[in-house]
Amino acid sequence: MDALAELTRLVSVDSVSSRPMVDLAAHVAQRCEDVGLRASILPMPGHSGKANVIARVGPDRPGGLTLSGHLDVVPTEGQPWTTDPFTATVRDGRVYGRGTADMKGFVAASLQALGRVDVARLSRPLLLVWTCDEEVGCLGSAALAASGLGDGPVPSACLIGEPTDFRILRMHPGHVAVRVVVRGRAAHSSKPHLGVNAIEAAAAVVEACRDVAAELAQEVHFPDLLDPPFVPLNVARIHGGSAINIVPDEVTIDLGYRPVPGMAVADVFDRLQRRLERLPRPHTGLHAEISRVTPSLLTPAGTPLERMLRAHAARPDVGAATFATDGGNLEKLGMAPLVFGPGSIDVAHQADEYVAIDALHRAVDVVEALVREACA
Ligand SMILES: [Zn+2]
Repeated sequence: MDALAELTRLVSVDSVSSRPMVDLAAHVAQRCEDVGLRASILPMPGHSGKANVIARVGPDRPGGLTLSGHLDVVPTEGQPWTTDPFTATVRDGRVYGRGTADMKGFVAASLQALGRVDVARLSRPLLLVWTCDEEVGCLGSAALAASGLGDGPVPSACLIGEPTDFRILRMHPGHVAVRVVVRGRAAHSSKPHLGVNAIEAAAAVVEACRDVAAELAQEVHFPDLLDPPFVPLNVARIHGGSAINIVPDEVTIDLGYRPVPGMAVADVFDRLQRRLERLPRPHTGLHAEISRVTPSLLTPAGTPLERMLRAHAARPDVGAATFATDGGNLEKLGMAPLVFGPGSIDVAHQADEYVAIDALHRAVDVVEALVREACA
């Protein structure tokens, strides 16, 4: 099997985050065993049908290498695909299919590369971490950060093969999701004075969010790495009201912001809370809470892995990702992750996602070279 066949097989399994993916986890674990590693499938506590896969080889010594990626993909509904997203289709030197770039291409390339190396003879540890539910908030890696990776070494040199077009990225902001529930009182719309209009109250909440966003945009962080160099805050979703002739009694507002490394997760939330507390309240129900946290990542410049990757990088500079990865959670396990892989984030999550076949083969060569260098 070559990398293209390996990728074709991975793409054929619909592992959209909302679906069970234990069959894919079992397949990937088997492929890890095929190339000489000891694989374990770690079911996600409280999430049936979901599992992370860990595989190891090599002695328990310092150094070595961790390769990591996620096995889930984003949905395809409503997107104008010109091919079947779950059938890898080769056209014009590219492989099209959901997950080809983000990021089954890297998983396939890694498995191929390891097939070329006599892993039984490695003198430093090699660890593979394949996660689930990354696309819905890095839940798989969060579970691993909480549980640990079991017995065995955890090489701090960690490559996360997200699609960066072979650029080295050492940092990304996190993501914090906040839900605000505004409660009013329902009434017949002919007698509005008997009710409290939750949508009107919610408008003031949205206004407060906009004020906080404007304030955040004035505060510069990591100008050499981040674009834009501030914490963006986005009011993402709003739901309220039930019928045209009823005064609405409840509105739910979901917003998200991207804290930079070193910033307390609750920093922006606390500012928002203080503003919400100052809003006039014709009613008692306004409640805000953090619903999900994806940690940020900051790996120091100049790690040994960065030096190894430079020989293979498309550009000499080391940058930041605009998107979050499993890296923040892997950092909690003692790793210093770098994000670097085949394909472009610009085609990820889109219709007709693809990876160039050249890039796929190049990724095989890069992983092989890294394993030989880091684990020899
Ligand atoms: Zn991804």
